Amino acid sequence: MQSEAKQLIDKLETENQLNKEEWIYLLEHRTDELSKYLFQKSDAVRRKYYGTDVYVRGLIEFTNYCKNDCYYCGIRCGNKNAERYRLSDEEILFCTDEGHKLGFRTFVLQGGEDPYFTDDHICHLVESIKKNHPDCAVTLSIGEKSYESYKRYFDAGADRYLLRHETANLDHYSRLHPSNLSGKKRQECLYMLKEIGYQVGAGFMVGSPFQTKENLAEDLIFLKELEPHMVGIGPFISHHDTPFKDEPNGTLEETLFLLGGIRLSLPQVLLPSTTALGTIDPQGRELGIKAGANVIMPNLSPVKVRGKYLLYDDKICTGEESAQCKVCLEKRIESIGYKIVTSRGDHYNYYNWR
Ligand code: SAH
Repeated sequence: MQSEAKQLIDKLETENQLNKEEWIYLLEHRTDELSKYLFQKSDAVRRKYYGTDVYVRGLIEFTNYCKNDCYYCGIRCGNKNAERYRLSDEEILFCTDEGHKLGFRTFVLQGGEDPYFTDDHICHLVESIKKNHPDCAVTLSIGEKSYESYKRYFDAGADRYLLRHETANLDHYSRLHPSNLSGKKRQECLYMLKEIGYQVGAGFMVGSPFQTKENLAEDLIFLKELEPHMVGIGPFISHHDTPFKDEPNGTLEETLFLLGGIRLSLPQVLLPSTTALGTIDPQGRELGIKAGANVIMPNLSPVKVRGKYLLYDDKICTGEESAQCKVCLEKRIESIGYKIVTSRGDHYNYYNWR
């Protein structure tokens, strides 16, 4: 019944949480009309805290070497067809200089888990970026490390860390990853990162193989418990050189619905409208913003390597220069009544808890 589902959205809006059965009910009863009802509320909540501002993060994909073999990912070590690359320190620092000129005040260093980049090396990179651009935040997204490593990066100046939990259900996790990786370990990493003092981002893929509505409900409850500062979600998109090559992609509609739900559950969260969302639909990122997202992460990687950091098929923006991407996004965001701002874009409560 639509009215019951609407009541659940009202409840989510006032109490910022639902239990597992309620989430499942809501996800099972999603319709276009219900989505519209949700997005009116999620957009209003986002405007209450962040107005129409959209924060940008310059994404630097600095290595596609990876020691892990996640079944869904195009840069898994088992993919012998992936053309591997690493950026030099000079290339990475050049990206940040270019990005700074374009108005970026957050740089995200993302990569596979690549042992070539030792802790000393990562610390050196973080220190160099912070020295060259003290007004910028540095975000790392380089997978699972020890407490000591995370602490060293933080002490070197890293502000934020993105580590999607991928799925909160441990059985589901084990169907997406080889047996040397565990969901429990991944969740522990997130709690360590929070304890150290990072602004932390968790998240998951929508429509990943074997995912049930119950799994999604568990993801939403896990997020509520963890209370991350950022949540990255995007549709699963199959990659032709992985074991999941024939699996169906996640949908635009379900991803948007979850973005709206997450905005109501964690009202002040920093919520990107992801490249994967822009890949499954040409208007995906704009629709994500309208559903409650407030962050965009354009690519700052050198064009020569962009076509090689392919986690999934048909990834967008692999041919453009950073400046072109920025202008294109600005136009897109303005066309729907929001605006890209030049700011670090910290969490609403950042200055209270740092
Ligand atoms: N090595 C880092 C960065 C991973 S890439 C880490 O372990 O965190 C960033 C995210 O891309 C992953 O967390 C995953 O959720 C997403 N991703 C990977 N393959 C994907 C696919 N086929 N479709 C959609 N998203 C994918």
